[in-house]
Amino acid sequence: MLDLTGKHALVTGIANNRSIAWGIAQQLHQAGAELGITYLPDEKGRFEKKVRELVEPLNPTVFEPCNVQDDAQIQSTFETIREKWGKLDILIHCLAFAGKDELSGDFSNTSREGFTRALDISSYSLVSLAAAAKPLMTQGGSIVTLTYLGGVRVVPNYNVMGIAKAALEMNVRYLAAELGSQNVRVNAISAGPIRTLASSAVGGILDMIRHVEEVAPLRRTVTQTEVGNAATFLCSDLSSGVTGQVLYVDAGYNIMGM
Ligand code: NAD
Repeated sequence: MLDLTGKHALVTGIANNRSIAWGIAQQLHQAGAELGITYLPDEKGRFEKKVRELVEPLNPTVFEPCNVQDDAQIQSTFETIREKWGKLDILIHCLAFAGKDELSGDFSNTSREGFTRALDISSYSLVSLAAAAKPLMTQGGSIVTLTYLGGVRVVPNYNVMGIAKAALEMNVRYLAAELGSQNVRVNAISAGPIRTLASSAVGGILDMIRHVEEVAPLRRTVTQTEVGNAATFLCSDLSSGVTGQVLYVDAGYNIMGM
């Protein structure tokens, strides 16, 4: 049964109502999970206000600032979870960042700083969040991250983010191998292109979406809700034998040669 009643789920990466993490949070909530939400804090507190208002209907019992480049914020988030919940069952890693300059033009122009920042935020953060979650996943668990086809094939303009996604997908395998002995599963969803804040920074994203609509077997792109449904499956006992995998939720686009 797809029933997450009694499960505690931490969802990262909600920026607004277009965020893939928002689609996931809604579907986890619908399946009965109790939610914790983190947001990226900014100086004026705008993100906090926006995300707080958005998620209110889902009654999150944990709501924490968590910039994944700040170890103290990660530690404090998981300390709050330990105090309030005592355990964690589900971790949704749904965040990424690369500077706009790095997401168009020649890949060889990627700066050292841009490369390091993209890999730190978009890939290493899965390792640091999983490490913090590990001692709290005492009754098994499920960790799900979001990746994209540009991590296994060359997609114009995706550039350094493709390298970050390749590293992220390998993180999934190493983490799955390590955490499997405590019945913690680690999987990735490779989503088709969706218009969001993050994807709007990738040069030519609208052309990419149009191309997928023409070529994908289902002749369309996917929605946040469809990704949310797949994530909910990966967090439920229905997927109890699945770990270390990349599940494509992309209307079938990845199977096409032309
Ligand atoms: P989004 O802009 O809604 O979400 C990105 C999130 O990353 C935001 O909430 C932002 O606050 C967060 N973030 C950035 N830097 C951070 C930091 N230092 N600490 C904490 N959080 C930080 O965009 P999205 O498209 O929903 O992206 C979510 C995930 O889905 C990303 O990993 C993205 O690569 C992946 N993805 C997106 C698409 C797409 O087409 N939109 C396709 C496949 C995979």
